[in-house]
Amino acid sequence: MSDRPFQEEFSLNLARLIIFIYESGYKCTGGEWWRTPEMAEIYARNGKGIKDSLHLRRLAIDLNLFKDGKYLNTTEAHRPFGEYWKSLHFMNRWGGDFHNSKGEPKPDGNHYEMNPSDNADFNVGVNITR
Ligand SMILES: [Zn+2]
Repeated sequence: MSDRPFQEEFSLNLARLIIFIYESGYKCTGGEWWRTPEMAEIYARNGKGIKDSLHLRRLAIDLNLFKDGKYLNTTEAHRPFGEYWKSLHFMNRWGGDFHNSKGEPKPDGNHYEMNPSDNADFNVGVNITR
């Protein structure tokens, strides 16, 4: 199955997330959305990110969050938006919940993704949440 139905659903969820951020009195700018395989290789070599990141499939984005002109780079600042993101779709995951391979918390608060890996047969088109 092509990723495109998931990518389309991701885009719609992202639009809702951004509107929610602004309606909550915050602003944001876009960080990385699509990551090339070459870039992922470089990141993996430098211990930043993983080689099979959902960014490679256009199913993840990093958002830069601002309030009153101040850049907020903590996971906690993103938490209300991470919770909202997860409420939009059952495949949505928020980086603030991430753990390393040992099960220790390894939060990546500005990372928002849709992970269809366990739901390969899911028909996105008939399950739009709102
Ligand atoms: Zn990311």
